[in-house]
Amino acid sequence: MKAHSGEVGVFVRIRPTANFSPDLIECLPDGQTVNVHQRKDPKKPQDTKRDQLVYWSFRLDGVLRDVSQEEVYARVCQRVVLGALDGYNGTLMCFGQTGAGKTYTMTGSTESYKQRGVIPRALQEVFREVEKRTAHFFSVHLSYLEIYNETLVDLLSSLQSSPRSSPRGMVVTEEPGRGVFIRGLSLHPVHSEEEALNLLFEGGLNQMIGSHALNRNSSRSHSIFTLHIESRSRTLCDDKYVTSKLNLVDLAGSERVGKTGSAGQIFKEAMYINKSLSFLEQAILALADRRRDHVPFRQTKLTHALKDSLGGNCNTVLVANIYGEAAQIEETLSTLRFASRMKCVRTNPAVNECSSPEAQIKKLKKEVKMLKEELSICNKLANRPSSMLSEAQLAEINSQVQRYLAGTLEEISIVSIRQVQAVFAQFKLAVQKPEEKGKSPISQTYNSEKDQSAKTAGTKEWGSVEDGSFEASTASQKNTQRPSSAKTKKSKDKPSQSKRPEEASPVSRKGSESGSEPKLNSVQMAEESLEPDTESADTQSQAPANEPFHLDSTRPKAEAFEDFKVGPGSKINSILKENKSVLLERRSLLRQISEEVNAVKREIDRFTASMQQQRETRGGEGQYVATEEEPGPTSLMQLKELKVLYRQRYQVLREIKAEVNYCQHLVDQCRMRLLTEFENWCEQSFLVSEDVTTDKVLEHCDMYWGGCS
Ligand code: ADP
Ligand code: MG
Repeated sequence: MKAHSGEVGVFVRIRPTANFSPDLIECLPDGQTVNVHQRKDPKKPQDTKRDQLVYWSFRLDGVLRDVSQEEVYARVCQRVVLGALDGYNGTLMCFGQTGAGKTYTMTGSTESYKQRGVIPRALQEVFREVEKRTAHFFSVHLSYLEIYNETLVDLLSSLQSSPRSSPRGMVVTEEPGRGVFIRGLSLHPVHSEEEALNLLFEGGLNQMIGSHALNRNSSRSHSIFTLHIESRSRTLCDDKYVTSKLNLVDLAGSERVGKTGSAGQIFKEAMYINKSLSFLEQAILALADRRRDHVPFRQTKLTHALKDSLGGNCNTVLVANIYGEAAQIEETLSTLRFASRMKCVRTNPAVNECSSPEAQIKKLKKEVKMLKEELSICNKLANRPSSMLSEAQLAEINSQVQRYLAGTLEEISIVSIRQVQAVFAQFKLAVQKPEEKGKSPISQTYNSEKDQSAKTAGTKEWGSVEDGSFEASTASQKNTQRPSSAKTKKSKDKPSQSKRPEEASPVSRKGSESGSEPKLNSVQMAEESLEPDTESADTQSQAPANEPFHLDSTRPKAEAFEDFKVGPGSKINSILKENKSVLLERRSLLRQISEEVNAVKREIDRFTASMQQQRETRGGEGQYVATEEEPGPTSLMQLKELKVLYRQRYQVLREIKAEVNYCQHLVDQCRMRLLTEFENWCEQSFLVSEDVTTDKVLEHCDMYWGGCS
């Protein structure tokens, strides 16, 4: 049999006898099969086919006939004992009629050491293993329970005080995580085989005394000898440990009441035994039938006490003790039937792993200590503040958060978890404070931005284009040069006092957030900024096209056009600028080539004029005479070269002119697109101001685009 397989191990042990009936009991050479031949009882009226042999075959895990106690232990019990030391629950039960050898199998003969049963051998094995397994610390406790006429008796209670046999004193209990246990049953710690054997003898003695004193037959009771094993690793500092129970069960005789022919107490005993064993059988049947949900464990104390041991997470082994004599064949058959049913039961062996809260706390404390040390090393290596933040650090974090909220700090770098927590705390404070003051944090932020915006507007504005580039100049200096609307002017004149609502809008904030960028809020500025030579290349970068715009219908449309160019129309505006810059560059080249062509042309003209003059000077002489002033062959060559050069440059000039025309066409297209898109945008989100019409905007646009046209 495989270890912890989930199958119940079932063995048959035949009690040695001189009257073995080979006709009725046949043990096959495979060592696992018993065939029973039963002759029908001629006296029984219900047996119709009298004197007829009926044949049954039982295939089990092993048939033990004339097998030594040592071998029985090795084949039947050793696997379960070793499993218990590994944390698996284990149960070994002996079942059979009285005198068939259950107690002999379990406890063995008290007269001979060699004939000791599986319990003393199991105890020996356990303590030998405990000695061997030095990596683990084992603790072993013993309990010895007797169930007599549905009464629980603690066979080791005499070691504590007076023997306890009151059913009220002990009760079969179930608790989650602990399973089934007998509340009130004494558990005795044992540290050696000798100690354990003493308890076994003590329990046996108590059982005998009880039998005499209370006039009860020990074979009429069930006894459960249990080893409670707990194992903890000595090497690993682990909060986990394993526990197991090894139940060694000597069941009462399974013979039926009728057979005993008894009355009175013996009848009562037989009734109880019958009851408990028949419920045991029912429980076994229910366990074997996998379609059954309910198993009637609680019907008797025996089945309830053995609930974990029969069908739970347990290595279970049954030894069916039988007689070999013909006279006992009926009981033998009954025992074998029980055994074959037991063979169908499946268990689910599993290690009982537990965790102790104390050990867990100890382990976690150790882990925390280790992690703290590790963290402190990491902090040291990374030059980070180690644990608590100092006052200065907190002040710095506070300042960072304030600057971040005010918009002067782009981002707060993450340094440590504590710093992040402190940042969050500051944010919370920032949210709570304005509420206390009746102000929202957002408006506070905007106000601070407005202030910033006002400061910027007051100090720097883009200047004129007189020298071909923008210059910074004060707002007051610039105002005289701008034919902008009165409203705009006013805002420029009083930058710090002006708190117009539109200043708080993202549009107006945009210009003010960067101190180095111009604030494009007037037609004049737009006109200037749109001058091809002077446009800032990164206008687009300062105003992403996808940023939402909040329009104010009270503003002039020209101003809105400026907003549109840095906002939704920034893409086409940027293309337009690019095209214009190419156009300008081509034009400049065109000018340069034109000048070259003109220069060559002038040279040619000069040569031609000179030659013409000489001809006229000679008059009608009709004969060519070379003079020092006259153009000689060299001059003629030069003239030819000049003409070639002229043609070349003229060709280049034509090509560049074509390019200029093409670029101009592109610029016109872009301009039209920009205006069309602006119109569409206005239609959607802008109410046209009465005093500023699109025509006016176009007029302005034509003014500054005129340079390129
Ligand atoms: P049960 O406990 O089933 O009522 P016991 O174990 O008390 O029966 O056995 C009854 C008697 O038979 C005892 O004297 C015991 O020594 C003897 N006996 C039973 N089985 C064997 C065996 N396999 N070898 C030797 N003697 C046995
Ligand atoms: Mg017995």
